[in-house]
Amino acid sequence: MKILLASSEIHPYSKTGGLADMVGALGKALARAGHQVGLVTPLYAGIRERFAGIRPLDWKLDVALGPRRVSGAVCALALNERLTIYFIDQPDFYSRPSLYQDGDVDYPDNAERFIFFSKAVAHMTRLLPWEPEVVHLHDWQVGLVPLLLKREKPASTPRTCMTIHNLAYQGVFPRSQYPLTNLPWDFFNMNGVEFYGHLNCLKAGIGYADVITAVSPRYAREITTPEFGFGLDGLLRQRQRALFGILNGVDYEEWNTVNNPFLRHPYSAEDLSGKTAGKLELQREFGLPIDERIPLFGSITRLVDQKGVDIQLGALEEMLGANLQFILLGSGMKAYEWAYRSLANRFPSKTAVQFGYDQGLSHRIEAGCDFFLMPSRYEPCGLSQMYSLRYGTLPIVRITGGLDDTVVDIAEDQEKADGIKFAEYSSQALAKSIRKALALYAEPELLRRYQLNGMAVDFSWDRTAQQYVKVYEQAQQAV
Ligand code: ADP
Repeated sequence: MKILLASSEIHPYSKTGGLADMVGALGKALARAGHQVGLVTPLYAGIRERFAGIRPLDWKLDVALGPRRVSGAVCALALNERLTIYFIDQPDFYSRPSLYQDGDVDYPDNAERFIFFSKAVAHMTRLLPWEPEVVHLHDWQVGLVPLLLKREKPASTPRTCMTIHNLAYQGVFPRSQYPLTNLPWDFFNMNGVEFYGHLNCLKAGIGYADVITAVSPRYAREITTPEFGFGLDGLLRQRQRALFGILNGVDYEEWNTVNNPFLRHPYSAEDLSGKTAGKLELQREFGLPIDERIPLFGSITRLVDQKGVDIQLGALEEMLGANLQFILLGSGMKAYEWAYRSLANRFPSKTAVQFGYDQGLSHRIEAGCDFFLMPSRYEPCGLSQMYSLRYGTLPIVRITGGLDDTVVDIAEDQEKADGIKFAEYSSQALAKSIRKALALYAEPELLRRYQLNGMAVDFSWDRTAQQYVKVYEQAQQAV
């Protein structure tokens, strides 16, 4: 099959979260399975310098953006004969210090930036000599593409698949931005792209794509309910027959403990001694007492409401009297940074935090900790808990979305348990799970069984990619 994937971030070129990991890995897996794959993404600042072999193509983009025309260029990086990354080069829009925001605030021209990107993607489907049959769109930044394609070439248009990575982010902009789409006003109504008087880019994707996926089976069900639907549950219920839940995979070429440039002490299920060595180094790095007997809890997260960082703070307050350590790597809302820093200041021998984005450190934390906290309010899929499982670090997760689909609690299966789950969104419920973790830590044999169970679970992409191919086939059959 010939497939074009479009995303505003793709690992390793740009990343703010799991979206980038997912698209990068899916592209690779589809190409490995023999499909012809292109990935298209903006050329952000620094990418050209960091990756050798990116060459300009002689295609010029000249895109109508409301009354003005904006030009751009396309660059390509061929990874192998079946896999090429296309970068949309528009320095005014993309050559900035970060992807979406200046500090905590969205760039004021995000509508222009991503409507331009969506139009460039639609245009690319016509430029590509290998003529993609399916265009797979990821999140609101490319939500308008299915509609743009249908408008342009209704008969021979490639089929479209829209994946929802997080329904909370919809790309909602004031009505005054709608003319940037250059679409007629006929689409600006309840049955089209309008959402309470605003333009909603993700709604366009959900409404007009041939098939829709969400990144875990449970999340695909949850988003059809008012509790998790963020106002789009009605539309999602209408489109339920075209909606599928496919669990994200893990790129084990990167996320493994055996052959990993970020880990100085490799380890495996057969020999976990490298994990202990990594733990001691991590304690040293974070300035905590170096002692392998103290259970070490970790968290790597965007510091936003979704991730349950508020109940995590409360649970830590309650639990830091116990013999444990906690480390955090996070970036996001300043108020949360401040709260975690203050916790670390008050409990300097138990808690240490680091802010910012650090890929290498994220691997070392996954490897060196005993437990990984993920108390999300909601979680479309979540990758970190899957990384934890492979790294022999027991995830402690709230029962929601992909967290429920990926972690097994002892209450569900005595033999296969590989983590600890709790239901209620509260500090007390999380604290109770931390207490369970401490009890488990005191039973090394049982702990080892959990670790080995987790390390043996296989979320590899090849299986996930097959599920996407099935869904693409459904898209091709859609009328
Ligand atoms: P989300 O996409 O909602 O942020 P996921 O669990 O799906 O959550 O993916 C998070 C990804 O981002 C993981 O690869 C995690 O390691 C990474 N990550 C999050 N915060 C940081 C950070 N501060 N530094 C490095 N990596 C981070």
